[in-house]
Amino acid sequence: MQSAPLTMMLAFLDVQKWRPRSVRRQGRRIRLFTLEAGSCEGCAMELVSLGSSAYPLGGSGFQRVQHPEDADWLLVTGSVTRSCAGDLASAWEAMPAGRSLVAVGDCAHDGGLWKNTYATLGGLHALSRVYGSIPGCPPSPASILQALVELAEGGSSPTGSHASSASRRSRQ
Ligand code: SF4
Repeated sequence: MQSAPLTMMLAFLDVQKWRPRSVRRQGRRIRLFTLEAGSCEGCAMELVSLGSSAYPLGGSGFQRVQHPEDADWLLVTGSVTRSCAGDLASAWEAMPAGRSLVAVGDCAHDGGLWKNTYATLGGLHALSRVYGSIPGCPPSPASILQALVELAEGGSSPTGSHASSASRRSRQ
């Protein structure tokens, strides 16, 4: 049986091909699959609010899907605990080509409050070279939606910083 860090490393081998693609230009919504990877679930609860009349996810060019096989973007919340690493790797591997990875909240970015604990792998920062990031603890539904729109529209924009509402991460 592989260790959790090795499982994640193997799963994300191809993530360097990550490019935030605006599939809207192809005439359809961007399909989102969300995965909670070990946290207080604050960020996950804020994500639930998206899609209400106050935060029109569909009207902004996105739709939720129930299976990673149908998704364009994987939205990750939580600090990526060792026990959740396998689920995260499986979801990523199940997604079709052109997939993208987005950290929602500080925990998903670098482990947040839990970054120095034995139980976590330190968020996506420790696992992947390139991914989108939405900062906050938790980010509000409005800021999540705004950041998703920015990522979709600015897919080829220069790498931003974690202080911005949406950014692409690179540890190169
Ligand atoms: S970033 Fe904050 S709200 Fe979100 S999962 Fe971590 S501790 Fe909870």
